[in-house]
Amino acid sequence: MKAWENNLRQVVPYVPGEQPKRSKMIKLNTNENPYPPAPGVRDALDAVEEDLLRRYPDPTSEVLNSTIANYYGVKTSQVFTGVGSDDVLSVAFLTFFNSDKPVFFPDITYSFYKVWADVYRIPYATMPLDKNFKIVKEDYYPENGGVIFPNPNAPTAIYMGLDEVRDIIEHNRDVIVIVDEAYIDFGGESALSLIDEYDNLVVVQTFSKSRSLAGLRIGYAISGNERLIKAMNDVKYSINSYTMNQTAIYAGAESIKDKEYFTKQVNKIIATREKTVKELEELGFTCLPSKANFVFAKHDKAAAKDIFEQLKARDIFVRYFNQPRIDNFLRITIGTDKEMEELVSALKDIIG
Ligand code: PMP
Repeated sequence: MKAWENNLRQVVPYVPGEQPKRSKMIKLNTNENPYPPAPGVRDALDAVEEDLLRRYPDPTSEVLNSTIANYYGVKTSQVFTGVGSDDVLSVAFLTFFNSDKPVFFPDITYSFYKVWADVYRIPYATMPLDKNFKIVKEDYYPENGGVIFPNPNAPTAIYMGLDEVRDIIEHNRDVIVIVDEAYIDFGGESALSLIDEYDNLVVVQTFSKSRSLAGLRIGYAISGNERLIKAMNDVKYSINSYTMNQTAIYAGAESIKDKEYFTKQVNKIIATREKTVKELEELGFTCLPSKANFVFAKHDKAAAKDIFEQLKARDIFVRYFNQPRIDNFLRITIGTDKEMEELVSALKDIIG
């Protein structure tokens, strides 16, 4: 063994869903949006001139941050942007979770939380979801070093009402509470309405799902407490000044401006979700109640892993987690109506 091997950082990384490169496939495995981004996004990309590419971007990404701030009726100093909400959450872990006490998050949740805690050496404790896969708010009452949970939770898709979110924040006034709202636009009510009441609340959202911009990588945090946003920026500027590139800044701002398009696409996905849930139930699936752009479904007879593999053989990709309690579920992203019809017809065939 070489001496340097003792000093090698060893981590178990987060494993993202596959990005297969098939010409004809139905990709329902990473909660992407099946519709194109707002038309203004394309125009903004075309308008990014070479001179702009030659230069470093604005490190404060003012154009993007102020557009987000205007949209939500907050100050630009209340907005932090990053390279997808993964980047925002990673900076938030580094900025807010520096206690010796464990950070609390659910046992079944976005699996990146555990990875950030490990890589940053943050102690954590996971709180089990109840038998209906719901977050138990009382589990978050004991003393801790911070709290984070997605709402709706992933991969369950279950939304927790704002009264319960408020209750968790009320019981954690001495630490930072992060609500990860990656899927909030698909039917939930955002905790952004609470930011003026709680100076320990940070709400994180993304352009990847409801705005069809997973490929551009834009996420943001909003807080009523400008000090928290300043602290996140201080950490960011201690790692990389230029996280937001020119195209993300200008195209992202255009996406935010087109509210009509946004609402139309989101409503389309919600309608397809409701239709798909009915069809899956007719086939013998149970779907956890979803307020996201995906459903978490389990069949009463067929094993999830088999279904997953048989779908894959037909170039239909869904997500399977080989984890206790959820290893008989499939996470299925809501695609277009046509994609979901093809999925349902393949499932009919597989299940027989
Ligand atoms: N939070 C949750 C709960 C997610 O499922 C995802 C998507 N993998 C993210 C955050 C990160 O998404 P992005 O980095 O694309 O904004």
